Amino acid sequence: MFLRRSTPLYTELVPTEAANQHIIASNCNNITSLMEFTKKLPPLTSLIVHLEIDSDDIMVLDGLRTDERFQVITHKPQCGITHAMLDTLNKSSMGTVVYFSGDEIFIWSMVKLAKKVGITDGNIILNKCGSKRNVYCAHCSTINIADNSSIIQCNRCGTSLFVRNHFSRRMGAYLGVRVDD
Ligand SMILES: [Zn+2]
Repeated sequence: MFLRRSTPLYTELVPTEAANQHIIASNCNNITSLMEFTKKLPPLTSLIVHLEIDSDDIMVLDGLRTDERFQVITHKPQCGITHAMLDTLNKSSMGTVVYFSGDEIFIWSMVKLAKKVGITDGNIILNKCGSKRNVYCAHCSTINIADNSSIIQCNRCGTSLFVRNHFSRRMGAYLGVRVDD
């Protein structure tokens, strides 16, 4: 489960030139970096953006909405974007590149969807934004929502957990072991 000892690799949002369709899912508040990304896209490519944000009055989004190549869909965090995103992924063409930008809980829930529809690792770009992450308790198997602290307390069993750099892609979680272990 935690065989891979490396932490995930995150990068900047940089367009993959060869793709003819790009799909972004983001819960990152830094819309500016998203706008910068869209400016770098080759002409004639299409972009579908799913944004999980609290308000949709962000003026900067208007620039995307008026470009007919792009489709911008906003979601309130409490509603989640999972269903709509899966629908988009299901309709995507061969060679589509997906970009997931946000905290690690968000990113890895999106990766799970992409894998479900058969998108390969090479076509999935991950951009980390925010510090929320999942920590798996090695003692009671609970997945805790945590920040990037190196020591947290398990919500279920109360154990003080040291968060190791072991990351399970399947669970989208870091491994937390008892501090003294
Ligand atoms: Zn626990």
